[in-house]
Amino acid sequence: MIAKRLNRRSFLRNAAAAATAPSLACPAIAQGQARVVVVGGGFGGASAARALRRLNAKVAITLVESNRTFTACPFSNGVIAGLRDLKEQQFGYDAAAKDSINVVFASATGIDAQARSVILSTGERLGYDRLVLSPGIDILWNALPGYDEAAAEVMPHAWKAGEQTALLRRQLEAMEDGGTVIISAPANPFRCPPGPYERASLIAHYLKVRKPRSKLIVLDAKDQFSKQRLFQDAWAKLYPNLEWVALSSGGKVIAVDAAAKTLTTDFGRHKGDVVNIIPPQSAGRIATTAGVADRTGWCAIDPVTFESKPVPNIHVLGDACIAGAMPKSAFSANAQAKACAAAIVRLLAGEPVVKPKLINTCYSLVAPDYGITVAGVYQPAAGVLAEVKGSGGVSPLQAPAAYRAQEALFADGWFRTITAEVFG
Ligand SMILES: Cc1cc2nc3c(=O)[nH]c(=O)nc-3n(C[C@H](O)[C@H](O)[C@H](O)COP(=O)(O)OP(=O)(O)OC[C@H]3O[C@@H](n4cnc5c(N)ncnc54)[C@H](O)[C@@H]3O)c2cc1C
Repeated sequence: MIAKRLNRRSFLRNAAAAATAPSLACPAIAQGQARVVVVGGGFGGASAARALRRLNAKVAITLVESNRTFTACPFSNGVIAGLRDLKEQQFGYDAAAKDSINVVFASATGIDAQARSVILSTGERLGYDRLVLSPGIDILWNALPGYDEAAAEVMPHAWKAGEQTALLRRQLEAMEDGGTVIISAPANPFRCPPGPYERASLIAHYLKVRKPRSKLIVLDAKDQFSKQRLFQDAWAKLYPNLEWVALSSGGKVIAVDAAAKTLTTDFGRHKGDVVNIIPPQSAGRIATTAGVADRTGWCAIDPVTFESKPVPNIHVLGDACIAGAMPKSAFSANAQAKACAAAIVRLLAGEPVVKPKLINTCYSLVAPDYGITVAGVYQPAAGVLAEVKGSGGVSPLQAPAAYRAQEALFADGWFRTITAEVFG
């Protein structure tokens, strides 16, 4: 156990902020007076709360989360394709509580930045010295005309894991062989850039195995997407029934009719038997309420501390923040959380914060035994998180099956490791 903790600590030091050792000099922390509230117990928030605790035993940490059970999005495309159970995506907060983190199951409904307090759905108020927001995303209902909450019950988004994931799975199972599945992918920026294409791949795999007369159409609001050559190379080999329609070929969906399961694009209409709309998104609502989201719907931050540019003492992590070149991923949220926790400890101690270096790796499964990767290293430069030149890259375009199988195993290992670190 001690060895494990030392490893985690050394990882934090190396990957997040080499010189950000916890300060014992801060009178507020030493006396146990410093209070940090974290809103959102997903990959960013739960990581931040636990990283803070590892860095400092004294600071009072409260984690506010709406749900008692967290359902993870990474690997949820496997649930949709029938490769794994939704239960394998679900995690609780016992480990955080054991770390002496005060876990409060409620929704944050307001932030009083002047008074430095968070207002909860229970009516309670929590005071803070530093507030961390990691609320993930919200769907921009009706940004795509016709796509509202009722339409999502017919044409699920499944972009927040849980009941929506299960609904899309049920619809695929109920569809007859010979049916048409449509995925509508949004314009940038959105949660998990390779996610729609991993989903398309795994649904195509399911159709190939179980419903081979069926077809899958991906209508895309973009001409380019993450790991595109790797995905398209695999699709050409594995999934002849998968058709990708780019923006320039009329892929952008401009309106939906849920009752008719019909999508309108600039070039025509498409009717599906199962329709998955991945809609436009913004930072989770509490970010707007707190005044940290800008007109883009996302939150501008200082890339060294993750402190909100417009509102001091509030830090924003994960999907909700504008992280420059860093993609919106669970891996990124976890890395940002460690850097942010290290910065907060220093800020509370009145010490200078050291520039972090952050890593992201996104694995995607094209088939159960076929994995591909994109990786990058990022650091603050000119006010944003910029990719370190020459770092990272993607899996090779030409690789033997054994290489792809090994990357699929790495993907599985990554999911087990990150969920054990954040929730275990
Ligand atoms: C299909 C799919 C596949 C993906 N695959 C991968 C992958 O392979 N690898 C990868 O790295 N990433 C992947 N992602 C992306 C990943 O899920 C997100 O980037 C990650 O969850 C972001 O973390 P977060 O902390 O910002 O948000 P979340 O993890 O969504 O956590 C937000 C939390 O905040 C809570 N919350 C929100 N508002 C409030 C409030 N007002 N009060 C209290 N609680 C609140 C929510 O209940 C939630 O628990 C995938 C996403 C999808 C949709």
